[in-house]
Amino acid sequence: MLSAIMNKAKKIVIKIGSNTLANEDGSINKEFLKKFSEQVNFLRDQGKEIVIVSSGARIAGVGTIGKWMRKGDIHYKQALCAIGQVELMDSYRKAFNKYDIHIGQMLLTREDLSDTNRTLNIRNTLFTLIDEGVIPIINENDTVSVAEIKIGDNDTLAALTANLWDADLLIMFSDIDGVYNKNPKEYKDAKFLEQITDIEELLKIIEIGKVNEFGTGGISTKIEAARKVNNYGIPMILTNGKKENILLSLLDGSIKATLFVSR
Ligand code: ADP
Repeated sequence: MLSAIMNKAKKIVIKIGSNTLANEDGSINKEFLKKFSEQVNFLRDQGKEIVIVSSGARIAGVGTIGKWMRKGDIHYKQALCAIGQVELMDSYRKAFNKYDIHIGQMLLTREDLSDTNRTLNIRNTLFTLIDEGVIPIINENDTVSVAEIKIGDNDTLAALTANLWDADLLIMFSDIDGVYNKNPKEYKDAKFLEQITDIEELLKIIEIGKVNEFGTGGISTKIEAARKVNNYGIPMILTNGKKENILLSLLDGSIKATLFVSR
């Protein structure tokens, strides 16, 4: 099922979480980006189109400036994002440059996606970039987003992007293999859930655990993202982005992942 969906999908949104993208000290995991860009290039050669939604600006900011890690003040957090976003895009640019692929940065807020006019402009830019073979890399515009206007997290942003683009598939990279009935980092006996067709049922049986330090949404926003895309008939795969050749393994179905698909 996983492999069939992956093979059939032409338009794919890939969301990369902070924990996938960054090393523990906040530096960007260049090795990950190197392998990731190689696989994206392979998928594009197969005729697939890719849009990336990437977190990691704040942790990259910490890695770059080497301070303010524990500052709770929102303005410091935003300042870190401003610094880290540049670093992040620089790393993507270098990784994709090897394959002569251009990237384009799109920074969005929730307000942008609830205003018809702005949404139309975003949609046009997104389609233009893709039509011209450029890979759009989307992130929340953290420097203007304070609590009230925040989309909340990139899981939601990735789902809204998939719906806006009318994608065939949303792939969400995290540091876990998928959804378990309880947090696998807290419970050794957590049971892995391979396929979810009913989100209401899932919410009845699972226990939602803690969020990682640099993670934002945790598992609940990933489940809500799945609900959003599934409502539009778009399947979502949640998987561990750090696994070797992850995208290729999804193609041949040799990887553990949770598939959210509407019945
Ligand atoms: P990311 O930065 O990749 O978006 P988050 O830290 O926001 O990741 O969310 C993923 C984390 O959610 C996992 O690392 C895991 O520890 C935690 N988690 C809590 N409850 C569950 C559960 N029932 N199944 C899977 N993961 C869970």
